[in-house]
Amino acid sequence: MRIGIVGAAGRMGQMLIREVHGNATAKLGGAVERAGSDAIGRDAGEIAGLGPLQVKIGADPAALFDAVDAVIDFTAPAASIVHAGLAAAKGKALILGTTGITAADQAKIDAAAKSAVIVQSTNFSPAVVLSFALVEEAARRLGPDYDIEIFEIHHRHKVDAPSGTALSLGRAAAKGRGIDFDKETIRGRDGHTGARPTGPIGFSVARGGSETGEHNVMFLAEGERLEIVHKASNRQIYARGAVRAALWAKGRAPGLYSMRDVLGL
Ligand code: NAD
Repeated sequence: MRIGIVGAAGRMGQMLIREVHGNATAKLGGAVERAGSDAIGRDAGEIAGLGPLQVKIGADPAALFDAVDAVIDFTAPAASIVHAGLAAAKGKALILGTTGITAADQAKIDAAAKSAVIVQSTNFSPAVVLSFALVEEAARRLGPDYDIEIFEIHHRHKVDAPSGTALSLGRAAAKGRGIDFDKETIRGRDGHTGARPTGPIGFSVARGGSETGEHNVMFLAEGERLEIVHKASNRQIYARGAVRAALWAKGRAPGLYSMRDVLGL
C-alpha cells in the first residue's frame, strides 16, 4: 500500500516516514511540506534520519493524493481541511491526527467523509484509545457522585489546550455519564472559584520541556479516588497507530471512522 505523508518535516511527519519505511506492507509513496518550507526538494529519508529513500519532499498535496492510496496528516487545522477536501475529490483515504480543529472545520471534515475514508483520532495510541472506552465505562458505572477531573501535561511546543486527547477523554466521560459535553465542562480555574459544582467535567493543563504526553482522568468521591492514567514516553506510538489505521482503511466504504473502529473497541 502506497502511503503519502503531509507535514513530512514536522515532529510527527519524520516519525511517520520512519514508521512507513519500517512497515513491510507499506511503501512511502510521497511526502509534502507547506509552501516555503526549507524541506522542499530534500529527500524524505534524509529528513527523517534514515538516509536517502529517493522520495523528494514536494509542495503539491494534490499530486501527492494522485500518487498514493492513503495520506497521513499530522499538520495544522487549516492544512487538514484542504487535505480532507482533496481526499474527497480524489477518493483516497485520509488518516487525520491534527488536533485543535474547531466545530466549523469539523463540519467540513464530516462532509468530506461522505466521499472518502477518513480515520480521525486525537490520539492514535491503541492504549489511549482503550482508555477512552475504560473512562466511558467508569463514568457510566460510578455515576454523578464522582467528580471527574482530567489533567494533562505536554511539551512546551504544543499550541492547543486542553489537548485533543484530553477533550476526547472528556467526551467519553460525558457519554458514559449521559451529559452534554459542550455544555458541562470547567476550563481553567483562577481566583475565588466557589465550591466545585456537581456534574461538569473539569480540565487542568501543564506545558513544559520535552514531555511527550500524560493524561490522567480522576474520579473523585468522598474518601476515594480512581485514576485512569496514560503516560507516553515516545511519539512513535502515534505514528505506528496511524500506519495501522492506513492499512485498515484499504477497501472500506467512505465514512468518518475513529481509531476505536480500527481496534474494534
Ligand atoms: P510540527 O509543528 O512539528 O509539525 C507540523 C508540520 O506540518 C510542520 O512541518 C509544518 O510545516 C507542516 N505543515 C503545516 N501546514 C502545512 C501544509 N499546508 N501542508 C503541508 N505541511 C504543512 O507539529 P507536530 O508536533 O508534528 O504535531 C502536528 C499535529 O499533530 C498537531 O496538531 C498535534 O497536536 C497533532 N498530534 C496528534 C497526535 C495523535 O495521535 N492524533 C499525536 C501527536 C501530535
